[in-house]
Amino acid sequence: MRNVLKAGDAFGTHRALQPQGALPQPADRLDNDFSRLFAGEMLVSVETLNVDAASFRQMEEAGGDVGERVLSTVRERGKQHNRVTGSGGMLLGRVAQLAEGRPAGEAIAVGDRIASLVSLSLTPLRIDEVRAVRPASAQLDVVGEAVLFASSPYAKMPSDFADRVALAALDVAGAAPQVARLVKPNATVVILGGGGKSGVLCACEARRAGGPGATVIAVESYAPYAQEIEALGVCSAVVRADARDPVATRAAVLDETGGREADLVLSCVNVDGAELSAIMCTRDRGITYFFAMSTSFTRAALGAEGVGKDVDLFIGNGYAHGHAEHTLDLLRSNASLRQLFERRYG
Ligand code: NAP
Repeated sequence: MRNVLKAGDAFGTHRALQPQGALPQPADRLDNDFSRLFAGEMLVSVETLNVDAASFRQMEEAGGDVGERVLSTVRERGKQHNRVTGSGGMLLGRVAQLAEGRPAGEAIAVGDRIASLVSLSLTPLRIDEVRAVRPASAQLDVVGEAVLFASSPYAKMPSDFADRVALAALDVAGAAPQVARLVKPNATVVILGGGGKSGVLCACEARRAGGPGATVIAVESYAPYAQEIEALGVCSAVVRADARDPVATRAAVLDETGGREADLVLSCVNVDGAELSAIMCTRDRGITYFFAMSTSFTRAALGAEGVGKDVDLFIGNGYAHGHAEHTLDLLRSNASLRQLFERRYG
């Protein structure tokens, strides 16, 4: 049992070293000395990291070993907070200690297995060893420890999914519930990166919310993923295009819709430079929704202005009430979607 100091606050400002007292997400460096805990903290024995897709891709493109890059970031910052993409990921582990001052009525015990639903970019983390790197799922098996704060959401691991599959789905749990809120019956919805992890969830949710009269179009550049989303049978069309080319993407999408722009365009890519494709496929007063962490606020805002598009630009909040259960239920309700996840991420 580690000693518990009284000084902790629910948001984790007590762990910010640089600058001191900052919130942990914008902080440059966190205290990852877990020889003592602070009030309100949950100590987790970490088994797997699910690195954010944009971050993983950036590390791959930068060259070298991704495991080494993660180790070096965590050594330097006390958290897995990619300096280029600004994004993190989430973790799977076992509860090792619950310090006093946790939220009242919390149904969790030492030994329970949990997935954090808060970004690694604000989670104090120490890694002792990287045991495996799995590029297909952007997951790393590690030996290490982390703490979650009293304000940090997490989910108990479900018993009816393999860990890796549940972790993959929970990483992007914010996406589908927000699609369910935004898609009206018979809507036209376009998903950039529609064959990726969040993309397929968004496509299935768009079909469920929009009904049989909806037009759901996935834009995907990776041929095997394009084939897989096509085989799911939820899309009206799957466009093989590079979403970093706005003119070609818009033309290909309008070709499929008979010239109609979309009510909602979701950007679920793991690369930068897709902002204008998303905006240019959206109808006047429609919604462009940037789930991708590779999105540039400046490019989106100035890009919309530059092409004279009066559309609402949404930033994808990783959190929505009940998002973990919503996303797992979506997988439970669609056997083909679940099989796709099990094949790819299991
Ligand atoms: P993913 O599984 O890697 O899916 C991204 C998909 O986009 C892949 O199929 C990818 O193909 C495709 N793609 C890449 N470049 C493209 C291009 N130029 N044109 C068309 N398609 C392209 O990623 P994910 O886990 O779903 O994550 C998607 C995004 O959501 C990432 O940017 C991630 O950072 C973000 N995210 C956001 C939150 C949040 O809370 N808002 C939470 C988690 C993740 P390849 O396989 O060839 O790369």
